Amino acid sequence: MSSDIRVVRSTCDRQENRSLASEPQAEPVVFVVFGASGDLATRKLMPALYDLFICGRLPETFCVLGAARTQLSDEHFRRAAEQGLQADSDRDLSRLDEFCDRLYYQAIKYDSRSSYDTLAGKLASLEKTKGIGGNRVYYLAVPPTLYTSIVENLGKSGLAEQGDKGIGWRRIIIEKPFGSDLNSALYLDRAVHEHFDEDQIFRIDHYLAKDTVQNVLVFRLANAIFEPIWNRHFIEHVSITASETLGVEQRAGYYEQAGVIRDMFQNHMLQLLALTAMEPPTLFEAERVRDEKVKVLRSLRPLPKDKLHDHLVLGQYGPGNLEGKTLAGYRQEPGVAPDSLTATYARMQLFIDNWRWRGVPFYLTSGKRMTRKKTEIVVQFKEVPHSVFNNFLGEHSTANRLVIGIQPDQSISLTFQTKSPGVGFQLQPVSMYFDYKSDFAQTPKLDAYAKVLLDCLLGDQLLFWRQDGVEQSWSFLTPILEGCETCPDRADRLQIYPSASAGPDVLL
Ligand code: NDP
Repeated sequence: MSSDIRVVRSTCDRQENRSLASEPQAEPVVFVVFGASGDLATRKLMPALYDLFICGRLPETFCVLGAARTQLSDEHFRRAAEQGLQADSDRDLSRLDEFCDRLYYQAIKYDSRSSYDTLAGKLASLEKTKGIGGNRVYYLAVPPTLYTSIVENLGKSGLAEQGDKGIGWRRIIIEKPFGSDLNSALYLDRAVHEHFDEDQIFRIDHYLAKDTVQNVLVFRLANAIFEPIWNRHFIEHVSITASETLGVEQRAGYYEQAGVIRDMFQNHMLQLLALTAMEPPTLFEAERVRDEKVKVLRSLRPLPKDKLHDHLVLGQYGPGNLEGKTLAGYRQEPGVAPDSLTATYARMQLFIDNWRWRGVPFYLTSGKRMTRKKTEIVVQFKEVPHSVFNNFLGEHSTANRLVIGIQPDQSISLTFQTKSPGVGFQLQPVSMYFDYKSDFAQTPKLDAYAKVLLDCLLGDQLLFWRQDGVEQSWSFLTPILEGCETCPDRADRLQIYPSASAGPDVLL
C-alpha cells in the first residue's frame, strides 16, 4: 500500500522557468576530444554537447576538435556525429547543422610529439578564425593506457600552459578508471600533475550529476527532520545496491582486467556511500563538499586480511534463462577466458569508524546479469525501543525504512506503521512515496554527462573526484583486491549464480 506525497509544483516551475540569463555562462572554448572516433565520444559526449548547445548553455563561439588515430575529414567527423545524434528519436534536431558546422577533426598519433605540434597549429588557427580566446578543454575519451602518453605530450608541447600568460585557461577531463590500484593511480596522478595543476584537472564520474544522486544531500541537509536521526542511534544498517540486468556486453577486454570492484566500487559505490555518510559541509561548494567526502573514505575500517570473506562475497554470473531466452554465462561471453575468475558480483560489509557511524554496517552490493536493474540506497532504521503493542501483536513491529531510488526508479519512499482499518488491532506497514518523474512532470533537459561537461566549462569541480579522494578509495580497496586475487582458494570463493537471478545464495 502506498500514499502519494503531493508536490507543491509551483516551486519546481519557478526553478525550471528561471531565466538562463541568471545562470552562469560558459566562456568561448575549444573542446578537444581525444578518442573522438570512439564509443563514448559518439554515444555520450557529442549528444551532451549538442544538448547544451540547443538549450543555450554553450557560447556561440565554441567548437569541438575531434582527435584520434582514424583518418577522418571534418566532413566525415560531422556525419558520424550527426548519426550519433539522430539515434535518439526524441532529440530536437532543429539546430543540427549549426552544431555540426562547429565540429572539426585532426588525425593524430597519441604518442607522437609532432602530432601535438600539428594539433597546436590547428587549435591556434581555429581560435583565430572563430574568435575564441584560447580557452580549451581536453577530454581523454580513450582507453586508460593512453592517458599518461597524451598528458605528457600535451605538457611537452606547451598545450597545458595557461594563467598568467594571458592565453586562456586549459582544463583536462579524465575518464574513469583513474588507475587500477593505488600505485597506478599515484603514477597517473604524478604524470598529470607534472603538467596540470589540480584546479585544471576534472576526474569525471558522471553518476554524481544524476539528479537523484545530488538529491541525497538535498534530502539530508535541506530538511530539518532527517539529519538528527541520521546516525548510529537510529539507523540499524544502510544498504547501497547497484544491480544491472546486462552482462559484460562488448567490454570483456576491459572487464576481465577490472571486475566489479574496480568497475563499480572504486567510483560509483564509494561515492554513494560518501554522500550518504558524510558530515554536512559548511557550504555547498566544491572544496568543502569534497573535504567531507574524503573524511568518510579515510574513516573506512580496513577489511581484516585474515577474515576478508567474512565481509565480502564474490560471484560470477553463469548461464541462465530470461523469459524463455537462454543467457550465456560470463565465461561463455566473447573475449572472456573459459576459466575466468573475474567477479561480476560483489557484496561488501563495511564500517565507518567515526562518532556518527560507529557500529553501523554498510552493505555495498553490485552485480551484472541480475533480476532487476536498480540503484538504490536503503536506510534501515532501528525498531522502536519499546513496543507498547507487544501484548496485541506478540511480535516486534516492522522498523521504518527509507529507500532512495537512484535509477531507474527515481524515488524516495518511507515506510511506517499504521493501524489496519477495522475492529481488530493489527499494524500494517505502508509507505509514503515520492516519484521524481511523475511529481516533476518536466523530464530533465540535460543528462548527467551534459551537466558535468557544463560544470567543467564553468570551472566548478564539485561533481568531480579530487585526487585525495581517488587515493583514499584505492587505499581502502587495493588490499581487498590483493587479498581476493591472491587468495589460494580464489576459485572456491567465487560463487557462480544463474543469470537473471538475485545473485549468489550465500550472503554475509
Ligand atoms: P573505445 O574503446 O571506443 O576507444 C576510444 C578511441 O580510442 C577509439 O575510437 C580509438 O580511436 C582509440 N583507441 C582504442 N583502443 C586503442 C588502442 N589500443 N590504442 C590506441 N588507440 C586506441 O573507448 P570508449 O569510447 O568506450 O571509452 C573511452 C574512455 O571512457 C575509457 O577510458 C573508458 O573507460 C571510459 N568510459 C567509457 C564509457 C562508455 O560508455 N563507453 C563509460 C564510462 C567511461 P582511434 O583508433 O581512432 O585512435
